[in-house]
Parts: sequence; C-alpha cells; structure tokens
Amino acid sequence: MKEELDNVYRRIRELLSPRYGTQEASALAFALLEDKYGISRTEVLCGKARAFSLEEHQELEAFLQQLVKGEPLQYVLGQAPFFGRSFKVSPAVLIPRPETEALVEIVMQESPESILDCGTGSGCIAISIAAELPAAHVSAWDISDEALLIAQENAVALGATVSFRKKDILKESTLDDALDRYSCIVSNPPYICDREASEMEQHVLDYEPHLALFVPDQDPLLFYRALAELASRRLLEGGLLCVETNRAYTQETAELFASYGFGEIEIIEDCFSVPRFVKARKA
Ligand code: GLN
Repeated sequence: MKEELDNVYRRIRELLSPRYGTQEASALAFALLEDKYGISRTEVLCGKARAFSLEEHQELEAFLQQLVKGEPLQYVLGQAPFFGRSFKVSPAVLIPRPETEALVEIVMQESPESILDCGTGSGCIAISIAAELPAAHVSAWDISDEALLIAQENAVALGATVSFRKKDILKESTLDDALDRYSCIVSNPPYICDREASEMEQHVLDYEPHLALFVPDQDPLLFYRALAELASRRLLEGGLLCVETNRAYTQETAELFASYGFGEIEIIEDCFSVPRFVKARKA
C-alpha cells in the first residue's frame, strides 16, 4: 500500500513522457495529483502512504487518456488559475493566460467606478476586477451562451457581482442599444490572424475555441475598431479603454485609437517584456 502513490506517479510519468518529455510529464503528474487528489509534490517525493480506490484509478485513467491525446491540463482539470483565483474552464472558453493578468492590474490602478469587459469568456478579467474593486459596477459581454454560463458560474463561486449579457460587438446595433456609460472598457478580444495559426501550438488549435482566438487575415484590427466605436459612444468623458493586443499589431492598435480621438495613449509590456497592452483615454 505504501508504494501505491509512488506507483501512480510513475505510471503517470511513463504514460505522458513520450508526448511531453520527462520534465513536462513530471510537472503534469504533480499538478494532476495536487489539483485532483490534494496530494502535494512533497508528499509524492517523500513517499507518503496513500491508497487509491478503484473509482480513483478509473478516473485517473480517463484523465490520462485525455492528456495523452494532447488536451490541455486546464480543460482536463476543469480549472485554471488567474490573478490568484481558480476559474472553471471548458473548451467553450479560452484558458486564461498569465500575461492577461496585467490587464486587471492596469484597470485596478485607475479604480474606475463602472467597467465593461467585452468578450469575457471564462469571466476571468471581469470577475477579478469585481473581486478586487468591490465598490465598482462590473458588466461583461460575450457572444457565446456557453461562455456566459461558465462566466456566471465563476462569478457565483468566487462571490463576485458581475452583470453578464449576451452581445455581439461587431453588430452596429449593439453600440447604441443601451444607455449605460462606463468609466472603463476593457477587452482581450480575438486577435490572432488566420495565417498565424501555423505558428501556434497544436493543443491550442485543437482544443481552444476558435471564436475567441481568430480574426481574418485581411482585418486584424476588426475587434479594436468595434471597441473604439463602442468606447467613443459609451465611455464617460475621461474614461479608459484598455486592451490586450497581438504583438504584431500593438502599434497599429495605438494608432487606430489615436485616429478615433483618444488621448494619453500608452503601450504597456506584458510579463514577458512584450509590448502587449494599449491604454487610451477618452477626451
Ligand atoms: N494570447 C492568446 C494566445 O496566445 C490569444 C488571446 C486572444 O486571441 N485574445 O493564444
């Protein structure tokens, strides 16, 4: 019995090594054991006595089959960390990226009273802001019903108040169909050009929602134009528009916002020192 945990750990590594290499396979094994069974890395390495029931073995086997096929660990676990909290995720929503956490920080520095997150996905940006700024009114839009359900669940689980709406910001009517005004509009919209797909990791292409990722090659700024239109009409005077961008188009995005009359335009680097965010203020 004492060896059971060690055997399980070895089996996970053995099964995952051909696809991921031994180092990544070990990391996946530790993450899986910790997140699903509450067994820490130290406990694994120190040979803690831990028995696995038949159900646990069967469940683990199913997780391993998903990982062997290349499914991202976050979808297998059904959760992903973001800004110190754990968010439920499914293939209906993008897995929150660590670099996107800076977008939350940029918004928090302003302490806006009312915030709209466009294309909320799992809700990670809107919910993090609502949790960090409890006095703020936070709204979030998405075009996908499935994403909105997950975002809603995340808000409830994390005790954050966010008002979610189904909206398509590419529809002209969306820009004027309500009277709400915001002191901040934030977005991490789809920004990867179709032609860039060939440079992307296979697991992203195979499992993550293309709706949340891609824009046509001939119109890489599609969503930023819609956001600039929306912000022109729905931001309060002095309000902030704050977006994540494709590194290949950060400068163009800044220029686009300038052409819409926004001021105080700033390009901000992400945690990998890549120019990634554009911040602009409505005059
Ligand atoms: N940063 C994400 C990626 O690298 C894409 C996010 C987006 O399209 N908004 O896959």
